[in-house]
Amino acid sequence: MRTRKNYEVDNAAFSAVAYSVAGYRGVAFHVLGWETAPDADTEWTGYEERTGNVLAVMVGDDYRHSVDPSDLTPLSSREYCRDCGQIGCGCNVIDDDD
Ligand SMILES: [Zn+2]
Repeated sequence: MRTRKNYEVDNAAFSAVAYSVAGYRGVAFHVLGWETAPDADTEWTGYEERTGNVLAVMVGDDYRHSVDPSDLTPLSSREYCRDCGQIGCGCNVIDDDD
């Protein structure tokens, strides 16, 4: 039984350290990759098809959200907090863009 959503890593397409997601104001997300789901052939091939969405987790959390890629906005490393994941919080900001 499937208990977690699966994904394909694509570091070329998702190169930013974190993203904001439309509908989740003020929280930074890490993008895991393209969401995949089984189709009619998966039982035989072992391969899943991309759904067109991406899977993203809030910074500091591990719940996998299915997100439309057009809802993503890249963040720079200094725009969010590594501790609480909030955009604009300054308690643990690492500037590693340079
Ligand atoms: Zn913070």
